Amino acid sequence: MTDKTTYSDNFKQSSEFLRLAIALLAKHKIPDDPHNYQMGYEYVSGKNQILTDDLSQVLKQSNFPSEKQLNNLYSRYFVQDEAFFEIMREEIRCIITNVLKEFGHSGNQLSTYSLTLNQFVNILDSQTTPADMFKETQKVIEDTHSMEKSQQHMETQMVSVIAEIDSLRKKLEQVKEESKTDTLTGIANRRAFDTSLEHSILISRENNKPFSLLLVDIDHFKSFNDNHGHLIGDKVLRYIATSLKRNIKGNDCVARFGGEEFVIILPGTSINGAMTVAEQVREAISSGNLTDRETDTSYGKVTVSIGATQFRVSDLSNELIGRADKALYLAKERGRNRVEKL
Ligand code: GH3
Ligand code: MG
Ligand code: MG
Repeated sequence: MTDKTTYSDNFKQSSEFLRLAIALLAKHKIPDDPHNYQMGYEYVSGKNQILTDDLSQVLKQSNFPSEKQLNNLYSRYFVQDEAFFEIMREEIRCIITNVLKEFGHSGNQLSTYSLTLNQFVNILDSQTTPADMFKETQKVIEDTHSMEKSQQHMETQMVSVIAEIDSLRKKLEQVKEESKTDTLTGIANRRAFDTSLEHSILISRENNKPFSLLLVDIDHFKSFNDNHGHLIGDKVLRYIATSLKRNIKGNDCVARFGGEEFVIILPGTSINGAMTVAEQVREAISSGNLTDRETDTSYGKVTVSIGATQFRVSDLSNELIGRADKALYLAKERGRNRVEKL
């Protein structure tokens, strides 16, 4: 789930962000409705690094982003969590109200029943005729039966409450998974990658073990899209994601970094090992021929360039990513379809 930004800027600071956000929206002809303004504010104030990166990516792709692109971005960072949690809150509220009602009902019955039992004890202690005794015994038996029934009803109710709570837990689990998954390719998204990277940095520092990062970028993908259309381009993104997954081991993490860029974390791997994996990945992708089986159309080859780097103890996550990005830039500069390290 997204961590909600807390806004604690003072008047002067927030006025400055407001001015910058409005200017940003105007520059890209983005309507300044509250949602877009919120994204603009977080972007110019640098409060939400992931949103900032993604919005930059969108603006890089098109100077005047479409309503759909903006809505996607907004729902990714703000709407999904709020709407979902409101539904969850409502469902939980409903379950609790029902349980409380049931408890209240059963509580009333319980106190009536204990009154009956008390009366019966009093009657036992007193001189009672057999006829009255019979009548009272009859009443205790009836009340006991009705109490038993109500207990059974309560038990059935509790079983259904448990089932409801369990289904909510599963839904929550599913949303948690979705919030970590890239919808187009089905692999981890940028948010999940950020968490994995922080975790890898911690583990590496604690255990003094190396780990490496690969930044993978499709070569000339813009012209591929221009030639074959975005939908085929999207298929290629899915194909690349599958190839990357196929070429890594269980503990390695592959994620969509944004656009046509992917990132791989290789735990316990030094730069030499990382170069071997990168070379395998590059080779596997460049040797494949892209064919759309549905239409039996061939789209030739796609290649990727890869920047590799090993974590250094003093690295902050953005320094590590920055170095991989520089290595990737070198690979592009030196002819593409190649791996470079830094
Ligand atoms: P280079 O070899 O230098 O990386 O060239 P490039 O064309 O791949 O790089 P550039 O950054 O100029 O363009 C990236 C392209 O990736 C632009 C955009 O059309 C495409 N792209 C980004 N995200 C998606 C997506 O989700 N689907 C599709 N089909 N294309 C995407
Ligand atoms: Mg790129
Ligand atoms: Mg590219």
